[in-house]
Amino acid sequence: MGFRRNACSLSGFSIQRREFLGISAGACWAFLNAPTGVAADRQFKFSEYPFSLGVASGDPRADSVVLWTRLAPEPLEGGGMPPEDVKVDWELAEDEGFKTVVQSGSATASPQWAHSVHVEVEGLRPDRVYWYRFRCGGEVSPVGRTRTAPAAGVMLDKFRFAFASCQNYEYGYLTAYDHMVQDDLNLVVHLGDYIYESATKDRTRRHPGGVAKTLAQYRNRYALYKLEAPLQKAHAAFPWIVTWDDHEVVNNWSGDNLRDPDGDLGAFLKRRAAAFQAYYEHMPLRKPQVPTGHSLQLYRNVNFGQLIQFAVLDTRQYRTLQPCGDGTKAPCDEMLDPNATMLGAKQEMWLMNTLLNSTARWNVLAQQVMMGRIDRAAGEEVKYSMDQWSGYDAARRRLLGFVSERQISNPVVITGDIHSNWVNDLKVDFDQPEQPTVATEFVGTSITSGGDGSDGEKYRATAMAENPFLKFYNSQRGYVRCEITQDRWQSDYRVLDYVSKPGSPCRTRAKFVVENGQRGVQEG
Ligand code: FE
Ligand code: CA
Repeated sequence: MGFRRNACSLSGFSIQRREFLGISAGACWAFLNAPTGVAADRQFKFSEYPFSLGVASGDPRADSVVLWTRLAPEPLEGGGMPPEDVKVDWELAEDEGFKTVVQSGSATASPQWAHSVHVEVEGLRPDRVYWYRFRCGGEVSPVGRTRTAPAAGVMLDKFRFAFASCQNYEYGYLTAYDHMVQDDLNLVVHLGDYIYESATKDRTRRHPGGVAKTLAQYRNRYALYKLEAPLQKAHAAFPWIVTWDDHEVVNNWSGDNLRDPDGDLGAFLKRRAAAFQAYYEHMPLRKPQVPTGHSLQLYRNVNFGQLIQFAVLDTRQYRTLQPCGDGTKAPCDEMLDPNATMLGAKQEMWLMNTLLNSTARWNVLAQQVMMGRIDRAAGEEVKYSMDQWSGYDAARRRLLGFVSERQISNPVVITGDIHSNWVNDLKVDFDQPEQPTVATEFVGTSITSGGDGSDGEKYRATAMAENPFLKFYNSQRGYVRCEITQDRWQSDYRVLDYVSKPGSPCRTRAKFVVENGQRGVQEG
């Protein structure tokens, strides 16, 4: 016999231990809090499957990758684990059947981090596929597949990745990932809005528990999303690089700024700290990304030999307040403020240095909000999104000016946030359309946010008439699949017919190509 669901308030697991026999429910916490040797060595017997949230891997290097899981026998109710450390074993093999295990070890899942596990496996071979799994209390996790990066000096012939963003549970099903796992990919990049903190009525599904504001609520929200089978499959199939946008915390947050001057900054920063902690707990991130209070350094670069470098940006944590009252507005002086910043001084310096020092043929900025200064109004009228780079015009000019002047090799921007597909040829000065293109921006649509969507033919005609640098627009759901060789970059816009019910087919709506050494995109 062991502890069962109703024996004490810690449901979902039981502890095999002689001292337990016959102890009443009231003694449960006393026992668990007693200093009885190495807590992490206790043998757990789970009454519910503890690896309910699956596995993940991320931030690959030539010799290393992060492996992730979280023990959560009761995922939607705080996890269902006792308030103590638990030992989790892991193993990594060269084959799916684990006949050749090349590394194994143990990690501590602690209650401070929601019993999540982040293992940074070292000493691996470059550009190799590995399989991994975890064990705890006699239970075995699903098997994950991952892949290391090539060695620093190696020029790959081919690299394939997909990027995605904005997967609001309330709008429907994450079917896009069922299609993504059919692709042969080295990597998945997630550009933010992995969860939504909000809660609304009258959509396809409802977020249980209302608006997320506390650590417990954010944890339950991640658990809800990670229970989705297509998402779990995509994490288990490929290593991921992740960054966030706004909804991991709250809609359109910007740095340490509150729009309401009478707002409670302390309360916001406390909420942000809770959101950051839950983010770290649920993502395959390395130690430099461990949050400290309301700070988490998410910007970093991930390199794949000489072919491609990803500079992963954080356009939320250090930005100044959106100008002109936020929203989509006619230009106002504030939007040209030279002191406005999207990245913050430190990240901007880091990015410029990272680009200058890069020896990669393709230099990707993996980021959130659109860089193309899209005029959203038909005709004479002009309207820009003040939450996007268009609201931070001096910062955008500074960055694109730098990329242009320093002749950064093949710069490509990948973007999420706006729940629609766009392809932009970026200019330093969008008022001079004859200016040479500096970089191409591929904006990927949402996985679900916005609902079923449409091809958007009518708006496409308007948008392309207003913005000569715009090459494509579509407002269906899906993801973008990219194939990179030494000679060319190709982005395939993969779209779904619907997300309000499961099972949508997926097709390639459009293909766009950038040739090595050429500025500007062509239809493929
Ligand atoms: Fe979104
Ligand atoms: Ca206009």
